[in-house]
Amino acid sequence: MSYPKVALIGLGLIASSMFWAMRRAGMDSHVTGYARSQDTRDTARRIGLCDEIVDTAEDAVRGADLVVLAVPVGAMGRVAQAIGPCLKPGCSITDVGSVKAAVIEQVRPHLPEGVNFVPAHPMAGTEHSGPEAGFAQLFDNRWCLIVPDGASDEATERLEAYWQALGANTERMDVAHHDQVCAVVSHIPHLIAYTMVGVADDLSRVSDQEVIKFSAAGFRDFTRIAASDPTMWRDVFMNNKDATLEILGRFTEELFALQRCIRTGDGDTLHDYFTRTRGIRRGIV
Ligand code: NAD
Repeated sequence: MSYPKVALIGLGLIASSMFWAMRRAGMDSHVTGYARSQDTRDTARRIGLCDEIVDTAEDAVRGADLVVLAVPVGAMGRVAQAIGPCLKPGCSITDVGSVKAAVIEQVRPHLPEGVNFVPAHPMAGTEHSGPEAGFAQLFDNRWCLIVPDGASDEATERLEAYWQALGANTERMDVAHHDQVCAVVSHIPHLIAYTMVGVADDLSRVSDQEVIKFSAAGFRDFTRIAASDPTMWRDVFMNNKDATLEILGRFTEELFALQRCIRTGDGDTLHDYFTRTRGIRRGIV
């Protein structure tokens, strides 16, 4: 299932991967792209991203049957405000933001009656960003969470079929649950990875870069995601405060408990904890 005309707003990792996945799926949609920066638009033109790159968001969405907001979460509201009056009656609009409650709150007021807003979140990414980072396989066998939040069944099913054609599996979720699940499986892990690098860097000032220089695979594997885009991640935390603070609270409780085990020499509890969590981790392919 496709849409005859698609507009991609924001031309980074996610939007560019969507474009290449659409082409791989053989969709013959006409795809128009727009990003705020001239550099990004020039790069997109140079690498053949989209059928047409235009210089305003308003021009990108005119006549589109599906509009995809693929900008940082904090920019969604501003973009929706600009394009709202130009949306084709009856079209669908979706976003790919990593947070749902705040995005829905910021976007919905700008959408005219009769437009179908179906929020979504592909659970796929890399630590790279920008139009050249995208690739057609990004969504293969990954989940795309669909958060209908009042959208019609018809519009929701059409978007689900579209994401499935891009390689993803889809699952519907309600807004609050989405934000909590993502805080656990994505947002807090990123915060901890950023923190690990920060701590290592602080230490390395004392020990002449040794921490960074001699980092073994554990540190490298664990902190790969700390190379992710700072704007995107700032916006995630600024817009998913309740869920991330709650999970961070739980995390620090666990950390303090483990700290106590180490201090008191309670190796049995540590061993039990690692055994239980290893079992859970090994279940994740
Ligand atoms: P990216 O940094 O690769 O690209 C963002 C794009 O948005 C850039 O082209 C930038 O020029 C453009 N942009 C920024 N502000 C804009 C504005 N006001 N108007 C128009 N264009 C603007 O980011 P990405 O990784 O593609 O992420 C895009 C969205 O997808 C974010 O909301 C993010 O939360 C979500 N997401 C990201 C990942 C991931 O792992 N990277 C995964 C799932 C969802």
